[in-house]
Amino acid sequence: MSEIPLRRNRAQSRVLHRASAAEPAVAVGGEGCWLIDQDGRRYLDASGGAAVSCLGHGDPRVRAAILAQLDRVAFAHTGFFTNEPMERLADLLSEAAPEGFGKVCFVSGGSEAIESALKIARQHAVERGDLARTRVIARRQSYHGNTLGALSATGNVGRRRPFLPWVMGDVVHVAPCHAYRYRLPGESDTGYGARLAAEFERELLIQGPETVLAFLAEPVVGATLGAVPAVEGYFKAIREICTRHGVLLILDEVMCGMGRTGHTFACEADGIAPDIIVMAKGLGAGYQPIGAVLVSDEIARVIETGRLGLTTGHTYMGHPVACAAALAVQEAIRDDGLVARVREMGPVFERLLREGLGDRPYVGDIRGRGFFRGIELVADRESKAPFPAGAGLWKKIKEEAFARGLICYPGGGTVDGLSGDHVLLAPPFIATEEELALAIDRLGAAIDAALAATGLAAA
Ligand code: PMP
Repeated sequence: MSEIPLRRNRAQSRVLHRASAAEPAVAVGGEGCWLIDQDGRRYLDASGGAAVSCLGHGDPRVRAAILAQLDRVAFAHTGFFTNEPMERLADLLSEAAPEGFGKVCFVSGGSEAIESALKIARQHAVERGDLARTRVIARRQSYHGNTLGALSATGNVGRRRPFLPWVMGDVVHVAPCHAYRYRLPGESDTGYGARLAAEFERELLIQGPETVLAFLAEPVVGATLGAVPAVEGYFKAIREICTRHGVLLILDEVMCGMGRTGHTFACEADGIAPDIIVMAKGLGAGYQPIGAVLVSDEIARVIETGRLGLTTGHTYMGHPVACAAALAVQEAIRDDGLVARVREMGPVFERLLREGLGDRPYVGDIRGRGFFRGIELVADRESKAPFPAGAGLWKKIKEEAFARGLICYPGGGTVDGLSGDHVLLAPPFIATEEELALAIDRLGAAIDAALAATGLAAA
């Protein structure tokens, strides 16, 4: 065994995916909204990493379910067997889903789930003899995952750039729905949503609707923009256009789904049902890696009666321990009424954010739904000018917040220069009002310290 301590710098560590060159804290414990390092320091986990830990850390019910499943069987390949937690989790999800979503496919995370959704959509077209439908329309400033297919759909320029031309798949990108940045002066929300929908349809007609397979979008944009929901009416118009042109609507709810917005599925607030819903993070709440793809009954019927059999597959699909963990997480959320709690506490969280940060000259926008909130930082509130991307403000905020015992998820400074720095907050659904207030307090101090350290000041 190695002699060097666990708290290692990068040169000492043999782990390639280590986030930082410094000596990072070693995570040794978790309780509720708090993570604990090996020196006993406690960190308020106000972002669940990236919107993962919706149930908080250390829930004994999930632990017990994982252990019970391990005592039965850890792994049995789905090519030969089904397993009880997978079947029961599928029942639970399809019962919670919009009408007409009876079938679900389980994978190991968000990117795999997006890949599977795209392949299922394509298979649906192939089985119907609609061979020309290959093109995906997605949105700029989106994030759909890190594997090459998911990255092809991703609109975040910085994340795609190193992998061009591998990610130049048959994908075109249209504008995101981001009222704070792109709604025209004097334009109403309704007018803005209608304008974007018309732009989408124009793109569809330019591409040739018979060549377009699917439209892929995050109902609330997470990592790239920081909790940006669409304006009212936008997704209804998109749904109608997709239906009229035979284009499948795939919603990426990997980050915003599973209760995070105060609804089990984020699209409930938009009043629509897509054809495919993709979910991951909150599904297993970090207790096990798991993602899922829910498909409409019509898609399931075409695939189950088709010639090919399901053409997407991974060794760990429907992994019994992962499914047992996710089932226990979702049962705990249901038994504790946590989605309703997020819906009720969401406005409280928003009020605390506005009271704590709203008057600061560098806060341009506070947005989001439920326990999924974003704060956009600007150099000038009037012009909405972002801070210079090269200043690295968001990275400094992450560092300063961590030093103050706060885990948040800042991002920004995208190379396309279209958005500024933002901070994403996605606390566990069990966070108390005091914990939310403390997170905001620590975040304010961290932003002030980061602005001072980077030499930036609000106008
Ligand atoms: N889609 C969205 C909206 C995401 O936020 C993420 C992860 N940040 C992914 C897909 C990819 O998920 P994973 O990291 O689990 O592969």
